[in-house]
Amino acid sequence: DFGADEGGEDDLAHRPPVVTVMGHVDHGKTRLLDALRNANVGDKEAGGITQHIGAYQVTTEVDGSERPITFIDTPGHEAFTAMRARGAQATDIAILVVAADDGVMPQTVEALNHAKAAGVPIVVAVNKIDKEQADPTKVRGQLSEYGLVPEEYGGDTMFVDVSAKAGLHLDKLLEAVVLTADASLDLRANPNMDAQGLVVEAHLDRGRGPVATILVQRGTLRVGDSIVAGPAHGRVRAMLDEYGNELEVAEPSRPAMVLGLSSVPGAGQNFIVVEDDRMARQIAEKREARERAAMQAKRRVRRTLEDFMASMEKGESQELNLILKGDVSGSVEALEDSLAQIDVGDEVTLRVIDRGVGAITETNVDLAAASDAIIIGFNVRPQGKAAQMADKEGVEIRYYSVIYQAIEEIEAALKGMLKPEYEEAQLGQAEIRDIFRSSKAGNIAGCMVTSGVIRRNAKVRVLRDGAVIADNLDLASLRREKDDASEVREGFECGMVLKNFQDIKLGDVVEAFEMREIPRG
Ligand code: GDP
Repeated sequence: DFGADEGGEDDLAHRPPVVTVMGHVDHGKTRLLDALRNANVGDKEAGGITQHIGAYQVTTEVDGSERPITFIDTPGHEAFTAMRARGAQATDIAILVVAADDGVMPQTVEALNHAKAAGVPIVVAVNKIDKEQADPTKVRGQLSEYGLVPEEYGGDTMFVDVSAKAGLHLDKLLEAVVLTADASLDLRANPNMDAQGLVVEAHLDRGRGPVATILVQRGTLRVGDSIVAGPAHGRVRAMLDEYGNELEVAEPSRPAMVLGLSSVPGAGQNFIVVEDDRMARQIAEKREARERAAMQAKRRVRRTLEDFMASMEKGESQELNLILKGDVSGSVEALEDSLAQIDVGDEVTLRVIDRGVGAITETNVDLAAASDAIIIGFNVRPQGKAAQMADKEGVEIRYYSVIYQAIEEIEAALKGMLKPEYEEAQLGQAEIRDIFRSSKAGNIAGCMVTSGVIRRNAKVRVLRDGAVIADNLDLASLRREKDDASEVREGFECGMVLKNFQDIKLGDVVEAFEMREIPRG
């Protein structure tokens, strides 16, 4: 399964950092990503044509040794949040681009909030220093106020003045990334296991069929491997790097374009290598069947986007009310801004009636029920009894972790083309009240089940202050007193160990969920 055991210390080897470029619009993210990629082509492959493959690797010399760095080649937080989906964090370091003539802008702040929330170290690229109006000192002062204090002022953030246009100091920027990785991260992975990782982007190529850019996170991917990527499966027919060269193997942190999949997986979905093609097909088919079953099990509730559409067609309703909840204020603002830009024509009004940071609460559900609103949860989940209450009241909660997906779906719904989605059902929540460390089992969470039920074979996620910090996990064990339990209900204490997730804290909430499968008809 995804997140399989990587083995012990001895099995781990260093891997290159994976970097995302973030920042305000027009501050030069795209230009910088292009400049960094092209600067490296020269020494890699003379005359090589760089391919836009969604991620690329460059190398830079630091202290006499060649150091690779992987860039996710999609500017903006969409890529970043997509990668954060399912608790699978792909980004190790964020480069925050700030134009030296413009200074800190709203999306600069939003970007740095995102990186901070994810615990990702930031390197600041002060861009456009070729411009006359450039004032890199001002940028340093502004960012200091947000807690990014430059090293030269005694802080621990590296600032590098660059010009993406003139190609100035790009090597220094790469060096700063390596130094930041060395100073604050211990990036290692086991290269000697079946590969696992993430789909960075995928599309249908007319000649080559489904093409997916993947990022290997652990293990080594080989041509001929059978893989499952989201609902797609297949044998790796060929792998290409960013220069169009064929790769035989792809090791941890290596991005590669993979050919041979049966269909196009979604960005942010996991891929795993499985034993053989038959198994890959079986797993993929099971996933598809589950999605189909869940599609048929669409809930019959009043307040869904579809219902809104139906009532609009009948001339009953012209207003779609939304309540936005997000993990950081930046994401809520970005979502609201993007929603405001949806062209819904004159007859329809999209109205955001409430917004906020943090978990979806009973108060939110109350308001939604009272005002026929739909709740949009961006990287957050319901808290306490809010999920059950929404069920009872027929309030629809839609979950997203990628802004453009939220926008696309809402826009599609308004145009009457919404594709049905499968539903997931919350089983229950438990609060971590004690943590025991066991050398054998790892961190054991002493929990109180505060609502519903926790099942041994359910999928779980971990919430901290209402935000999802790890998703789609399995339980390694569930115990009542000293005995293994298949389920533990509300009001009872239990001990649990999460598979492949040790980073729990007191007060974290473990939420159990499953796919809702209501029979047809
Ligand atoms: P993004 O929206 O952050 O991806 O920004 P772009 O990369 O599209 O850049 C926005 C504009 O700024 C474009 O016209 C770029 O050519 C320009 N630009 C980017 N970097 C530099 C730079 O270092 N110096 C100057 N003078 N212009 C730049």
